[in-house]
Amino acid sequence: MKIVLTESGAKNKKYTVHEHVQFTDLVPVFDAEVSGSFLVSRKKEEIYDLEGEFTAVIVTGCDRCGCRIEFNVGQDFFYQYRLGEEPELEPDHDGTDENCEIVYTIDPLLESSEILKEQILLAMPQQSLCGEQCKGLCDQCGINLNENQCKCKENSDNSPFAILRKLQNN
Ligand SMILES: [Zn+2]
Ligand SMILES: [Zn+2]
Repeated sequence: MKIVLTESGAKNKKYTVHEHVQFTDLVPVFDAEVSGSFLVSRKKEEIYDLEGEFTAVIVTGCDRCGCRIEFNVGQDFFYQYRLGEEPELEPDHDGTDENCEIVYTIDPLLESSEILKEQILLAMPQQSLCGEQCKGLCDQCGINLNENQCKCKENSDNSPFAILRKLQNN
């Protein structure tokens, strides 16, 4: 959805979005079903606040075993858009909230999915796992260790298990 900053006129303008956002340039690729809202309010001729919130259902693969997982993320966000070129030197801190990100833009047209993508990435957990206990894939034979067992670790002399066995035998 297009958000046109200058359309907010003297009043606030609210946008509600439901979007399917795809992250195709990430590994693993993932999809998000997002619902969000944006409230644009004009502070000055060239300064606009954008307050928003979203919730998203993320569909992705477990970082360890790759199985399909789904979970929710969501948060509030706040940007301030200033129309014009970014000044070379940021003016002294003028009392604006530190949590507010100031964005300089020449174009008053924003794309909601771009904002949502940025926010989803910020809200994503560091690791997406199917469960804390996920054993992942064997790094040698690729078997899913949650479902099957393999002998790779036992057979490798350098594995911690083999070393432990040697210690126990001595
Ligand atoms: Zn897993
Ligand atoms: Zn294996």
